[in-house]
Amino acid sequence: MTGRVTLVGGGPGAIDLLTLRAVRALASADVILHDRLAPTEQLSQWAPQAQFFDVGKRPGHHRVTQESIHQMMLSAAREGNHVVRLKGGDPFVLGRGCEEVAACREAGIPVTVVPGITSAISVPAAAGVPVTARGVSKAFTVISGHDPLSEDELRGLVSLGGTVVILMGVGTMGHTIESLQRLGLPTQTPVCLVEKGYSPQQRILIAPAQRILEVAAQAKVRSPAVMVIGDVVHLAADADDVGRSVLDTSTMPALQRAEEIQLIRSMVGALA
Ligand code: SAH
Repeated sequence: MTGRVTLVGGGPGAIDLLTLRAVRALASADVILHDRLAPTEQLSQWAPQAQFFDVGKRPGHHRVTQESIHQMMLSAAREGNHVVRLKGGDPFVLGRGCEEVAACREAGIPVTVVPGITSAISVPAAAGVPVTARGVSKAFTVISGHDPLSEDELRGLVSLGGTVVILMGVGTMGHTIESLQRLGLPTQTPVCLVEKGYSPQQRILIAPAQRILEVAAQAKVRSPAVMVIGDVVHLAADADDVGRSVLDTSTMPALQRAEEIQLIRSMVGALA
């Protein structure tokens, strides 16, 4: 008997940000293929009878190719298993979920998709940053920074306005921030970087566009991080629930300007 595949969006990393439908899928899984950014902590508790396989990729080191993920997924399903392909965030946001769905369809394996909470919206929220806000921003663009953005893309972002959310953008951040300013993004536009959102190591950095590269370099920001560019970042200071944010000002000696210090004070106050 042929099994089936369920593509599950695991949310931004905290186990309690899984959906009920995701939890149900895990509970009936025989085989789980999970990513690096999927919530794996205490996962066996939710999927007691499942066998786990880490097929996570790290930036620059593709440990398991997309093709071999497809092979593993399909052969486990052909053996009659319920295969859960657990992915970070939402499977259809910059996650190659549609390729996995297509592979199942081509192979004649039944496949369903469980949407997840995307990091594009939830990770900024961990810093109290809304992606839209009435009177501030009525649009947000989510874009991959995996490869350097083209001149056309950058120009488009500047002319649309609104909020820009960049995933996989740490490696290309220098090019992105410099080019956006060259193409007309006001240099005072606030930028927020949230590193390892929803983990105990979560860090939030905020600085104007013209300073963010310096601040990020000093803090040694690493992937995974979400970058938010736009006036909504000013609202971070008003957030009254920034979760378990860790704002380590000692790593940010560059943050000297009065308004930045004010911003940090109010965020630290919100944490207390
Ligand atoms: N499908 C996923 C995105 C996959 S791309 C989703 O919907 O969230 C992977 C990128 O997502 C990372 O490089 C990073 O930019 C972002 N990301 C995912 N989880 C994150 C987290 N917990 N903290 C910070 N960034 C995260």
